[in-house]
Amino acid sequence: MTNNTKKTVKFISRHLSLLPSQQQCNDINKMAIIFYSIVSLSALDVDVIPQYSGYAEWIRSHYKTSIVVGEDKFIIGGFTGSLNMAVPNVTTMSLPNTLFALLILLTIDDETILTDNKITNEIRRFVSRCQIKSHGGFVSTLDYHTSEPSPIDSHDLRFSYIAVAILYILGCRTVEDFDRFIDVNKLLDFISKRQCDIGAFGEDSEPHAGYTSCALSTLHLLKKVGALPKQFKDDTIEWLVMRQVSNLGCMSLQDELNESYDLADIGGFQGRENKFADTCYAFWCLNSLSILTNDNWRQLVKTELVEKYLAETTENKLVGGYQKNNESDPDLYHTCLGIAAMELIHGNFDGPLCIPAKVATKYNL
Ligand SMILES: [Zn+2]
Repeated sequence: MTNNTKKTVKFISRHLSLLPSQQQCNDINKMAIIFYSIVSLSALDVDVIPQYSGYAEWIRSHYKTSIVVGEDKFIIGGFTGSLNMAVPNVTTMSLPNTLFALLILLTIDDETILTDNKITNEIRRFVSRCQIKSHGGFVSTLDYHTSEPSPIDSHDLRFSYIAVAILYILGCRTVEDFDRFIDVNKLLDFISKRQCDIGAFGEDSEPHAGYTSCALSTLHLLKKVGALPKQFKDDTIEWLVMRQVSNLGCMSLQDELNESYDLADIGGFQGRENKFADTCYAFWCLNSLSILTNDNWRQLVKTELVEKYLAETTENKLVGGYQKNNESDPDLYHTCLGIAAMELIHGNFDGPLCIPAKVATKYNL
């Protein structure tokens, strides 16, 4: 482990040591903070199982159920971000907290939830409930009282991905499996409507690397990447490759110069055209390329330049952790995705599930 990596491990551990002792703190992002931390440490080969297995009980205490009363009565279940929000008979679980909780439990090797049929069925019913019947996309939460899809919640591609990832972790592998809980055709239609004319996916017809990664990861888990039109796939690969910032023009497919770049950004990836590079987009772009091209993607981009950008420009030399770019402070989200991008390059990371490959392999994911 290099000195910088040791500092990064310290940076992450420091954040974790503050949680979950602050159980009363009403930070609804706690589950996300623990997820980014535990996954980062595991990816850096810190032995998180003995060190953090004590978190399992705390995570499980955030599992909540609600009774849905309609034509028939049934129970749904999922994870809430904060126990302060968990009031009886009020639906507070969310799809992101549920995915974070399940992935943390897998990473610290706690199968209690995953092997409990009653709980896994409640979670599947919750996921099913979050799909919007009219267009097939997903919201992240349900209305507090009616448990109907929240009318005020966004339904962008992130939540479709999260819904499918949860079902995948809970055992769905074929379209038939998924169809027992969600309408796969409607979801595929919803995703295809977000394909942009010049390639990649986005809301409002503007290609965006984050949404592209969500759409492609969803299709990957549904085993539907092969159904994408060839021209769209080629355009998407080209668009993604062009996101790597370079002063030499983009590497393999075109000779044009990228229009906007900052010298400090060279090697990094931007999330949209004409934007500055950002650590997290290295992961979103590389994950998308790895889904579309299997292993060939390493020849399409300059992996050594991404690594150089991450290690020299965005990993903080003083306090450890990764920052968004050369001008910001380190945070856990960019730390996790910086490490994820590095490990993806070295074949040690499961991009579509956003966990170390060793964890995915252990659970046959
Ligand atoms: Zn970012």
